[in-house]
Amino acid sequence: MAEANNIPGSEAPLSGATAPYPYEAPVSQGLFDRAALVTPGGVNSPVRAFRAVGGTPRFMVSGTGPYLTDADGREYVDLVCSWGPMILGHSRPEVIAAVQEAVARGTSFGTPGEGEVALAEEIVARIAPVEQVRLVSSGTEATMSAIRLARGFTGRAKIIKFAGCYHGHVDALLASAGSGVATLGLPDTPGVTGAQAGDTLVVPYNDLDAVRAAFAANEGQIACVITEASPGNMGVVPPAAGFNQGLADLCRANGALYISDEVMTGFRTSKAGWFGVDGVVPDLMTFGKVMGGGFPAAAFGGRADVMGHLAPAGPVYQAGTLSGNPIATAAGVAQLRLLDDAAYAKIDAVSEELRTLVSAALTKEGVAHRVQNASNMFSVFFTENEVRNYEDAKRQESFRFTAFFHSMLEQGVYLPPSAFESWFVSTAHDERAVERIAAALPGAARAAAEATQA
Ligand SMILES: *Cc1c(COP(=O)(O)O)cnc(C)c1O
Repeated sequence: MAEANNIPGSEAPLSGATAPYPYEAPVSQGLFDRAALVTPGGVNSPVRAFRAVGGTPRFMVSGTGPYLTDADGREYVDLVCSWGPMILGHSRPEVIAAVQEAVARGTSFGTPGEGEVALAEEIVARIAPVEQVRLVSSGTEATMSAIRLARGFTGRAKIIKFAGCYHGHVDALLASAGSGVATLGLPDTPGVTGAQAGDTLVVPYNDLDAVRAAFAANEGQIACVITEASPGNMGVVPPAAGFNQGLADLCRANGALYISDEVMTGFRTSKAGWFGVDGVVPDLMTFGKVMGGGFPAAAFGGRADVMGHLAPAGPVYQAGTLSGNPIATAAGVAQLRLLDDAAYAKIDAVSEELRTLVSAALTKEGVAHRVQNASNMFSVFFTENEVRNYEDAKRQESFRFTAFFHSMLEQGVYLPPSAFESWFVSTAHDERAVERIAAALPGAARAAAEATQA
């Protein structure tokens, strides 16, 4: 989800959730009841409904720095950060000022504008493999368009994706399918047809042999491999050493394109995203989240010869009424320009401090767990085994997360409402915010220890 997860939020309410909850959020509950009448499930993106953890989703009314305030007037330290975008914290004055300045000049022109050039230049300057970039409005659009371009460029139909990797709600990518090597993609959701998912091959993450076998069984037919640069949508499961390079090599050897989905990791895990961490050069990359500064802006880009196949330069069609919107690009440019080395050093340090605190609290209560991180992205798995793929992730004791989550929420710390999501921090998470989290952890760890699967 980052707002994803293998079929976002379709999880049934977990047994073991400690309902009825010991604390209440009557105003949020009232809004949720109203919402449920006019919106399916009461939300506009499934994970927000708290189905995996139960209880009342908090309707937020404002955010400042590391804090969110809900409709009942309670304040939370935010460890979701809008699933990544709020990397500078909420309401960062420079970003707000850039938005206000842009809004005052008008909100959309349907013509080219300087803001989109500035944002594209900012991206190209930071990320060496991106020679050209096309702006869109969501990560889903970015991956959908990159897949279309890869198919148009190679003249091939099939694509390889990994179980547990989320790339937005693109039909062909909503196939995480069952286990086994190179399972033919079976749709994960009604509404996606066999024809739409049938050209999708799903292989286990961190398994190069499975990728090799998929290429061998489909010679000359694979347009691309798409992978999260470092997965964060099954919890944080970093690529094993050499895995991404192995993918790039296999793609090159087989005439397929390597698409690195950096919608979550881009401009977060380093100044140049995950590319800045492992240096593996993809053919195409996708971005979103951080680059929009909290507005709908996303992008895909890469090799100029491949991007040159996009309309109007080439034959592969792609378009968008609000693509490169002046407000969104103003927010994105302002945000990226504030993300210097010092900002990443700050985020990395806070992340490390929190990882240490969480692990210490759980260890003290004897709770089996693993804190896994990819740079400053991290998540807690309630298992003692290393999590290398989606099957491993699903083996954790999620019912302990449910208890942990509600204890943290009650104590004013807002975690992702699912055990399969990354936690996100920002430059605004200062000592006071960390102290509040530290104060909440012992009780939450105890709740996790005492939790039982109902
Ligand atoms: C969030 C996410 C997407 C989808 O982006 P949206 O803006 O929600 O459409 C795609 N890929 C990854 C890796 C993501 O984390």
